[in-house]
Amino acid sequence: MLFSDIIFGPLHSRRLGVSLGVNLLPMYGKWCNFDCIYCECGWNAGQRGDRQLPTREQVGEALRQTLQRLQQEAQLPDAITFSGNGEPTLHPQFSEIIDDAIALRNAYAPQAQVCVLSNATLIGRDAVFRTLKKVDRPILKIDSAIEATAQLINQPQGAYTVAGVVEQMQRFDGQFSLQTLFLRGAYRGVALDNSTPDEVARWLQIVVQTRPREIMLYTLDRRTPAERLQKLSQEELLAIAAQVQAHNTWGAAVQTAG
Ligand code: SF4
Repeated sequence: MLFSDIIFGPLHSRRLGVSLGVNLLPMYGKWCNFDCIYCECGWNAGQRGDRQLPTREQVGEALRQTLQRLQQEAQLPDAITFSGNGEPTLHPQFSEIIDDAIALRNAYAPQAQVCVLSNATLIGRDAVFRTLKKVDRPILKIDSAIEATAQLINQPQGAYTVAGVVEQMQRFDGQFSLQTLFLRGAYRGVALDNSTPDEVARWLQIVVQTRPREIMLYTLDRRTPAERLQKLSQEELLAIAAQVQAHNTWGAAVQTAG
């Protein structure tokens, strides 16, 4: 499923409430430096026809018009969320666009939180880091603490290590949300399950090390490009959440979406 516009929604999001989406990526293609086996946008290989990114001006104008209309209709969203057809931090004007979005939020929808869903691969870049520090909810992905599992699930398209991302995450001093999608199944003949006791124990070490103020545990919701993947039950997610709570000495909000 691709988003065929810059602005989409507002939609009801399992994690963010009523969310107005902003797509900084191509409208008829996907652009991401991961190729997650569960990506709702499909595989990278099938989605490379359109490489045209919206400009800062186009995004700002589209967001302004939508917020103005929603304000008139008294339908303002809880969140303005940057996600869409790929990884938003890849946009070369990401920082400027976020500055514009914060200004527009302040003008039209002061109650709305500016959120960015990111795979966290570029948080080592100073500009990306500083920009994500400005938004209300930088939501950063780690799907496994075990490098081989992360490689299998996320299929990074360049150099990537979980350890490297965790090191960069620590610069946020806990001022971020950690998002982890739990699933099991098989891909290319390799069995995978990031919810085993060993996987969860290793992942909990990252949670304790980075102390995110919010932890989002979720599972599959829609069709996935890889076949043979299975979602976890709500009970299984809640059992992992209970393990988080047992370590949660810093008062993180723990959220599950099954
Ligand atoms: S990081 Fe997000 S957009 Fe990129 S492949 Fe994974 S799920 Fe898809």
